[in-house]
Amino acid sequence: MIMECLQRKKEPVLGFDVDLFSFDDALQYVHSHLKENKGMQIVTINPEMITLGKKDNDFARILNGADLIIPDGVGVKIALKIKGVNQENIPGIEFSKKLISLCELDGYSVGFLGAKEEVVQKAAQNLRAEFSNLNITYIRNGYFSSEEESIILQEIKAISPRVLFVALGAPKQEFLISKLKKEMPETIFIGVGGSFDVWSGMVKRAPLVWQKMGFEWLYRTIKEPARFKRIFPALPLFLVRVIMESLHEKLG
Ligand code: UDP
Repeated sequence: MIMECLQRKKEPVLGFDVDLFSFDDALQYVHSHLKENKGMQIVTINPEMITLGKKDNDFARILNGADLIIPDGVGVKIALKIKGVNQENIPGIEFSKKLISLCELDGYSVGFLGAKEEVVQKAAQNLRAEFSNLNITYIRNGYFSSEEESIILQEIKAISPRVLFVALGAPKQEFLISKLKKEMPETIFIGVGGSFDVWSGMVKRAPLVWQKMGFEWLYRTIKEPARFKRIFPALPLFLVRVIMESLHEKLG
């Protein structure tokens, strides 16, 4: 497939656009931006983010204004299926890893912002071990005051990594990216949630069978029971709303 031919095809879920690229095409799409020196904001969308976007107009605008919105997790995949669209799930953490590998191969610099100090440092160390030619130009933990934030934004602007991975969790990471994007139109930004925790080795992903069955969220909830409050009743409620929306569309 010739990269230049890739066109976005979006499908809304409860009013929030989701790109219908395959994993490989989504990566090619980002690669074409890298090669053409273009910036972009990549969002890895999940039901929690859509539910939040329904209540927060600023967040909703950021989500729908992103340049690539990949469906992260089984919730959005099921929602699309309800709407009659077959879409592969694109785990943000795997997509980000492939993007890092691409940056290493083509020599693009990367920056990491987010997570606790020891986590982001260890994640960077592990990534350097895995991708020996990776050019990491910025590392900063994600715990800072609003006064420190403006210094951090200036630092990032000055260093200007080609791709910035932001791990502050949603919606914090998307709000911060939206501020940076205005001043750094040629940078590629991606919000990566808890990925640094996993890359640092301090948090384990679900075993592959759980991932394949679409139960990674359940595994994480069992491991971190505090997540339960975040997922329930948001996830079932989200699916009920999608079913209602789909019925409404079908009945005209
Ligand atoms: N985090 C941060 N600063 C904050 C709040 C959170 O750097 O003020 C980090 C946190 O340490 C973790 C990540 O953001 O590494 C959020 O992870 P979570 O698993 O909650 O995100 P999800 O993948 O669910 O979006």
